[in-house]
Amino acid sequence: MHLRDMFAREGRTFSFEFFPPRSDAAARELIDSMSEFAKLRPTFVSVTYGAGGSTRDRTHNLVVALRQVEEIDPIPHLTCVGHDEDQVHAILRRYARAGLSNIMTLRGDPPKDSGGDRGSFRQASDLVRFIQRFNASNEHPDRRGFGVAVAGFPEGHPLTPNRMLEMDYLKAKVDAGADAIVTQMFFENRDFYDFRERCELAGITVPILAGIMPVTSFKGMRKMAELAAGARYPASLLRAVNRTKGQEEAVRRVGVHWATEQCRDLLDHDVAGIHFYTLNRSTATREIYATLGVSDSLALGAHGA
Ligand SMILES: Cc1cc2nc3c(=O)[nH]c(=O)nc-3n(C[C@H](O)[C@H](O)[C@H](O)COP(=O)(O)OP(=O)(O)OC[C@H]3O[C@@H](n4cnc5c(N)ncnc54)[C@H](O)[C@@H]3O)c2cc1C
Repeated sequence: MHLRDMFAREGRTFSFEFFPPRSDAAARELIDSMSEFAKLRPTFVSVTYGAGGSTRDRTHNLVVALRQVEEIDPIPHLTCVGHDEDQVHAILRRYARAGLSNIMTLRGDPPKDSGGDRGSFRQASDLVRFIQRFNASNEHPDRRGFGVAVAGFPEGHPLTPNRMLEMDYLKAKVDAGADAIVTQMFFENRDFYDFRERCELAGITVPILAGIMPVTSFKGMRKMAELAAGARYPASLLRAVNRTKGQEEAVRRVGVHWATEQCRDLLDHDVAGIHFYTLNRSTATREIYATLGVSDSLALGAHGA
């Protein structure tokens, strides 16, 4: 379903993000576990794309496989760094033929060994424009073409320390044709609310989906601090994690509790949607839904409930 229709129908969206597993066996395992995610009735699920190149076909194969699972509407991520226009055109054509309705449209980070080759695109906004040109060519079965989601960074993106300039770039990316913004993970809701207000002041009116990642291990926290460069763990969360003295199950409980409280507060503050970084495991997300007292996304406010 096109993103615009999702927002029109659902009011509020709930989505889950996966990464493509490295082996066929792990991919099959993930597809098998999809029934657990499907029970939560997500509005859509998204599958990341390796800007480095190694997992590119795996993203395609996984979204096409997920398309066959009932209740699951997959959205592929597509990064433009290192790609030329012909490559991106071929990918879009494949996705259009597979009946996929939307693209999570990103720049990606050049791999360290790329030798500075940036390809045809400099920023995600170039890719948004390219997709809109594809959309105008009527190659997609939906006459509107692909719906487009782009990334936003409540705590700021490390490459643009000037936060006013960053907002200008984000506005340009939305004006190029984005239908929604999905944020980087954040652990302090005030950062999200302030970002949302700054977007509003900049004249950005598309829905902004909040990126939530339940902390499930101390090792995972350190890894995410690297991957989501700039994401900050508040002192209160760090103190709670420290109290566990490193006991794995206790860290996981602290992390899931923190994320649940974030979600409850976001729901109270009219969030347009919540995007869960699942790390391919359903347990934490299922626990969040259960503690919020609901069995699925409909009960959380999707589908206009
Ligand atoms: C929801 C989400 C999903 C993601 N999925 C993936 C994934 O699947 N694969 C992956 O590899 N990475 C992924 N990332 C990471 C993302 O690719 C990186 O954070 C990347 O550095 C920024 O991507 P972007 O799309 O925001 O780029 P852009 O919007 O191009 O922004 C990148 C930087 O350039 C600046 N900028 C923008 N326009 C201009 C301009 N005209 N002139 C100068 N500077 C400009 C921005 O302020 C920012 O600092 C994801 C991030 C998020 C939040």
